[in-house]
Amino acid sequence: MSAHFIAECLDCGHKGPYLINSIQCPQCGSAWREARYDTATLAHSLPLLLPGRPFDIWRYRELLPVRSPNPELSLGEGGTPLIHAVNLGMMLGCPNIYIKDERQGPTTSFKDRQAAVTIAALKEAGITELVVASTGNVSIAYSAYAARAGIKCWAFLTSLVPATKMREVALYGTQVIKVTGSYDQAKQVAATFAKQRNIYLDIGARSIPCIEGMKTIAYEVTEQMTALVGPPPRSPEDPTQGTPYTAPDWYLQSVSGGMGPLGVIKGFTEMLDMHWIDRIPKFGVIQVEGCSPMVHAWRQNKEVATPIQSPNTLIATLATGDPGRTYTLLRQKMLKNSGGIFESVTDEEAFRAMHLLAKMEGISMEPAAGVAFAGLIKLVRAGVIKPHERVIVNCTGHTTPIERNILGEGWARNVVLPTQAMEESPEEGLLAALSRVAVDRFPRIAIVDDNADVRRLIRRILQSQGNFTLFEATNGREAIELVRREMPNLIILDLMMPEVDGFGVLDALQNDPATAEIPVIVVTAKELTSAEKQRLKGHIQTLMQKGDFMSDELLDEVRSLLG
Ligand SMILES: *Cc1c(COP(=O)(O)O)cnc(C)c1O
Ligand SMILES: [Zn+2]
Repeated sequence: MSAHFIAECLDCGHKGPYLINSIQCPQCGSAWREARYDTATLAHSLPLLLPGRPFDIWRYRELLPVRSPNPELSLGEGGTPLIHAVNLGMMLGCPNIYIKDERQGPTTSFKDRQAAVTIAALKEAGITELVVASTGNVSIAYSAYAARAGIKCWAFLTSLVPATKMREVALYGTQVIKVTGSYDQAKQVAATFAKQRNIYLDIGARSIPCIEGMKTIAYEVTEQMTALVGPPPRSPEDPTQGTPYTAPDWYLQSVSGGMGPLGVIKGFTEMLDMHWIDRIPKFGVIQVEGCSPMVHAWRQNKEVATPIQSPNTLIATLATGDPGRTYTLLRQKMLKNSGGIFESVTDEEAFRAMHLLAKMEGISMEPAAGVAFAGLIKLVRAGVIKPHERVIVNCTGHTTPIERNILGEGWARNVVLPTQAMEESPEEGLLAALSRVAVDRFPRIAIVDDNADVRRLIRRILQSQGNFTLFEATNGREAIELVRREMPNLIILDLMMPEVDGFGVLDALQNDPATAEIPVIVVTAKELTSAEKQRLKGHIQTLMQKGDFMSDELLDEVRSLLG
């Protein structure tokens, strides 16, 4: 087996060669080991090699537990983009939010990293059969890579996994075993089956290839962050000191068992050891409220999480009731580094975040990934994440078929083609049918703001879910003219503007009986004095703070004022 790394036991410290199918420490029997590399040498040699390599997980091959990566097994794993969330950042008043878009992996979730490394290691070791238990995405990822590698795969899935995901697993030629019970029970059944038949079992967070696959996320986002913002500034006294890469301030990810963040934190730790970065980011580990054993334990300052027997969430992907030692390790590492937090959000908050990201950033994700974004919103609004901080949120997986309750009513309009008219005059028939799609007289809204980005954001929010006729004015004087001319049903008004400010606009409109009754929502970045608040009183319906309202809140206000 490969000599470029060794396995170190987390319990007795024993160091020795690693064999993929002997899963225990030879000295004490612990299943918890970590891979160690020659980081003293790699710290200097690897940065010289990286620029010449493709942007995928194998660019870090000296730091992965595979001797010689086989390009023929690859599906293009890793190298996913880091996307600046401009609109979300504007709404939250937090301009440096970046999305690590793991939807763009070969099977549309971050589990591809774990599967690619594990299957490569199994293939190298001549292993031809594998058992996995999963809440869906692990099985999909392993099935795809196993198919390429000619490895037979057995997938134990809880019956809660959506049928569409189950069928995808089967499509790859995997034998699906549906277990009626919880995810933790499915894991037990899988373990028993694997032991009986002496087949390799994927043991998730205790498996070196899994953790090593996940850690590549840390390396990638660090390289990407540095490309965007440059290396950290050098000290003028000693410009030879300093690190070549910039780490983010926060790293957020939704968790079930917690293997993802455990791997990512190992990546950051290695980079810190190699002096590539000067600190490890704070970790935001987000669970869904109906299954949040880690969050309970964290709040009670406990080292061991109490398992949840029956998870209560619609988000099956995140239904690990017993995180086992993963929680304990994650907590230890977070406390030793820069800290962070375990936080939970409701199913409802996750669905809303998922819908928001699709409408406002063009990113459609599965509810399990929405959990991380709901956590982001919660932490920013609670002041835990500060406005200037650089935040990376892992968008862990792509949309599964959208449940009806997420969209609400009226998301589609039907076009019925009149058969007779179509025969006589196809074009007129088509126009007649289409005229019904947009016959309503839409409510008219004036958006008044001198900042073009803010106007664009508000326009986007209004158009994302509803139909309005929109007008824009870029200063107070234009606004007064516009309102007199177009007579909107509602005005969304900024306060600080050149020429005539928002207060001036309100005065002018109040003094004219024709415009005095039009409802006004003030959206402002200004900290108002009590005198100013008094001035607004009675003249506006709603006051919203820029950088501190979400699209749904604005939409709800607009709808209620329009009646
Ligand atoms: C597996 C999964 C998670 C949870 O990851 P863990 O690291 O196993 O806790 C989150 N989101 C998606 C999309 C997943 O597939
Ligand atoms: Zn040991």
